Formats: sequence, structure tokens, C-alpha cells
Amino acid sequence: MNWFVSMAYFLVTIAFIFGLKAMSSPVTARRGIVWAGFAMIAATVVTFFVSDLHNIGLMVLAIVLGGGVAWWSGKTVKMTDMPQMVAIYNGMGGGAAAGIAAIELVRGVDHSAMVSTLMVLGAIIGSVAFSGSCVAFAKLQGLMNKAIRLPQQNSINFFLTLITFGLGLTIGYSDDPSGFGIFLFFVLALALGVVLVLPIGGADMPVVISLLNAFTGLAVGFKGFVLGVPMLIVAGIVVGASGMLLTQLMAKAMNRPIRNIIFTPLSGAAVEGSGESQGTMRETSAMDAASLMRFGGKVIIVPGYGMAVAGAQHKVWEMAQLLEEAGVEVKFAIHPVAGRMPGHMNVLLAEAGVPYDRIFDLEEINNEFSQADVALVIGANDVVNPVARTDKSSPIYGMPILNADMARDAIVIKRGRGAGYSGIENALFFKENCSMLYGSAQDAVGEIIAQIKAFDS
Ligand code: NDP
Repeated sequence: MNWFVSMAYFLVTIAFIFGLKAMSSPVTARRGIVWAGFAMIAATVVTFFVSDLHNIGLMVLAIVLGGGVAWWSGKTVKMTDMPQMVAIYNGMGGGAAAGIAAIELVRGVDHSAMVSTLMVLGAIIGSVAFSGSCVAFAKLQGLMNKAIRLPQQNSINFFLTLITFGLGLTIGYSDDPSGFGIFLFFVLALALGVVLVLPIGGADMPVVISLLNAFTGLAVGFKGFVLGVPMLIVAGIVVGASGMLLTQLMAKAMNRPIRNIIFTPLSGAAVEGSGESQGTMRETSAMDAASLMRFGGKVIIVPGYGMAVAGAQHKVWEMAQLLEEAGVEVKFAIHPVAGRMPGHMNVLLAEAGVPYDRIFDLEEINNEFSQADVALVIGANDVVNPVARTDKSSPIYGMPILNADMARDAIVIKRGRGAGYSGIENALFFKENCSMLYGSAQDAVGEIIAQIKAFDS
């Protein structure tokens, strides 16, 4: 039986790795998710064949409850609420890893120095991932102010980390750790997650979610060592390593070193200071917007969070097809943090049927804006804000942006004067070559479609 379990875990591990590999491209991502999902089900089922299993009734109950809630929330969650869901599920993974460490510590099993150290590390990282993810969830859900910075924040972080590690190692190496010591250790580790994420706000949140995801992977990997389950080690390390790579890529894409994001988050004052309006905005009509695009040679569409909220992707693709039929070259420009999760826009455009060869990443297309007749910005804001290039006090300073302002004409579709995620005014909207088409993305694009059809009828 042991041979069967080991073999099954080995195959499941390979399926995880191939699943993850497939997720790296939008073309194969769906297949990757299915593989990884089936591998997870197989791993869970195989675990029941391990010989000395106890509390089977409780395990089945937990699987039914957890699986039921996950199924229901996965089916009902709105696409725009996906980052919150990822944050909270990620937190659950970290919490589970910390929970296993808590049980091992309470049981007081005599482990080797290496295993004890990994157990304590897993407990701290898992707790930080859990409480940090809960704070990230509260922020993304709008339940909490975006950035709360304590006085002497960095000193608090430093000493809390030191005390938590010290206490953790004392408990981990003790033959008979006190219940209160274990309790205090977890309270401190959870507090560490809270104080680390509280001051981080605005544009840095995507990187934080990705970093916490990497933490969860590491915590699970360490638990694999403690429990002697190779599959957990591999799955945890794969998630940890890929999460770390994604974190680095996103931090690079936003031009914010990871240590700056965690230790010198942008203050609320900087956000408020950048909110000054800089002139007047020019309004345009659907007919003018349609005419500029229909009789132009090249249009670059920049989708953002507002397109996702409005669910306008199908209409946007319908408009793009009409323009293409009229001989206009149409491309989609995707910023790495457009929307509210990595790949958000790619997923929506793929769902609407936009072919992958029309979709371009920032570095692939940014030089083309200066040759475009129209940059059509649909519900995007921060990702096209030119202050990121010029204003050092801005919370998004240094973040590479899509060069929509360099097109001959920029047209921005949004409902009113609402700010973007970072809460600041957008200098693009006040430029001479920019005009605003007010309305919800779905309605505004619908009107443009009607106008293009009217031109061609
Ligand atoms: P923004 O959040 O900067 O701006 C979205 C704009 O859409 C708003 O200004 C709003 O203006 C407009 N809008 C809202 N609803 C509608 C609607 N129904 N129709 C038309 N417009 C609408 O979006 P971006 O995509 O430009 O930038 C993403 C931001 O989110 C970045 O700051 C990024 O750092 C952050 N973020 C990204 C994550 C990621 O991983 N991608 C995760 C978490 C945060 P108005 O109200 O006037 O309509």
C-alpha cells in the first residue's frame, strides 16, 4: 500500500508541475487549472489510503464543508472581486500550514533541530500569510483604509520579527513548551502579518498579494518536511518559487523594489498631495470618437478596471472588429497591473474572443503609441497616468505606464471624475490631445458601435 501511495504522490506532483507550466500561457492556462485541480483531488483521495489515519469522519466533514464553500464562492464570485477571493484563499493555505505547526508544537513531538527550525519558520510564515492576507482582503473589499502607518513602523516591524523568531525557536527547541508560550508565539506571528501589510496601500497591493502567496507556498513546503510528505514539499516549493518570481516581475513592472514596498510604503500624504486638478477636461461625443477611430489608420485600445466592472469586453471586441472591417489596424495594450489582479485584462479579452495576436504587453507596444491615431482608454486610469514619469511625490512615481498620451488623440471612456485605485488625479485627462467620453463603458462603447455602423450603412 505504501508503494501505491508513494507512486500516486509522485504522479500527482508531476501533474502539479505540468499544470503550473501550462498556466504560464493564456492559450493553455485553462488546461493547466484542470490538471492541477484533478491532481489535488487525487492527492486528497490517496491520503485516505495511508494506513494509520485517524479522525476520518472529521476529515470528510472538513472536505465537504471546505469544498462546498469553495465551489459556491468560485461559481458566484464576480470577476472584479477575484483579487479579494485569491487573497482570502491564499490566507487559508497559510493558516492551515500554521495550524499544523501549532498542533505539532502542542503535541511536543521530539523533532531534530532541522525539523524544529523548519516547523517554527513554517509557523511564522504561515501566520504572516494568514493575517496579512486577511488585511489585504479587507483593503481590497473596501472594509479598511488603504494605508495605515504606525509611528516608528520599521522599528516595530524589526523588533516584532526578532521577538517572534526568538520565542519561536525557544519553543521549537524546548522538550515541553508551555501552552501560554505557544499561544503568545502565534499571537505575535499573526500581529506581524497585520503590521507588515497595514501600511501598504494603493498601487502596491498586487505585489503584496503575490508575495503572501509565495509565503504560503513556503510555509506549506516546510510543513511537508515536518510531516515527511514529499508531495507537500514539492507543491509548496513550486508555489513559493513561482510566487516569488511573479512578485519580482510585478515589482519590476511597477518599478518598485520589493524592500521599498514592504519597508517604505507610500504614505497617505503623498496620495493626497498628488490629487490636485490641473486644468479643464474636454468632453467629446460618441460620434466624434467613432469618427476619429473609423477614419484613422491605427487605434490602440487600453482596457482597465472600469471595463471589467462594466463587463464591456464583448462590446469592445465587437467595436474592434467593426474598425478592422473598415481597414483600421486595432491593437490591445495590456498593462501588467491593469484591473485588480495579474492577467485580469488578458482573461477578460480572451473570454470575449479577442485573438492573442491582437493583445500586447506594455514593453511590446509602448513605442507604437506615438504612431497611433487614437489611444482609446476604456475604464483605465492609473496605468495611463503620466505623473508616474514626472512627479516624484506621486504614489505611482516610477511605475511604467502605457504611453496613451503620446497618441495623436487620446479618448478616455469613464463615468465621471472618479479617481483610479491609487486615489490620484490623472494628468492625461487635462492634456490638449485628450478628450473624455463620459458614461459606463458598456453604454459608451455601444454608442460608438452604433455610430460606426451608421457611417458604413
Ligand atoms: P484604475 O482603478 O486606476 O481606474 C479605473 C477607472 O475606471 C476609474 O477611474 C473609474 O472612473 C473607471 N470606471 C469605474 N467603473 C466604470 C464603468 N462602469 N465604466 C467606465 N469606467 C469605469 O484602473 P487601472 O486598470 O488603470 O489600474 C489598476 C489599478 O489597480 C492600479 O493602480 C493597480 O496598481 C491597482 N491594482 C491592481 C491589481 C492587479 O494585480 N492588476 C491588484 C490590486 C490593485 P469613474 O469612477 O469616473 O468611472
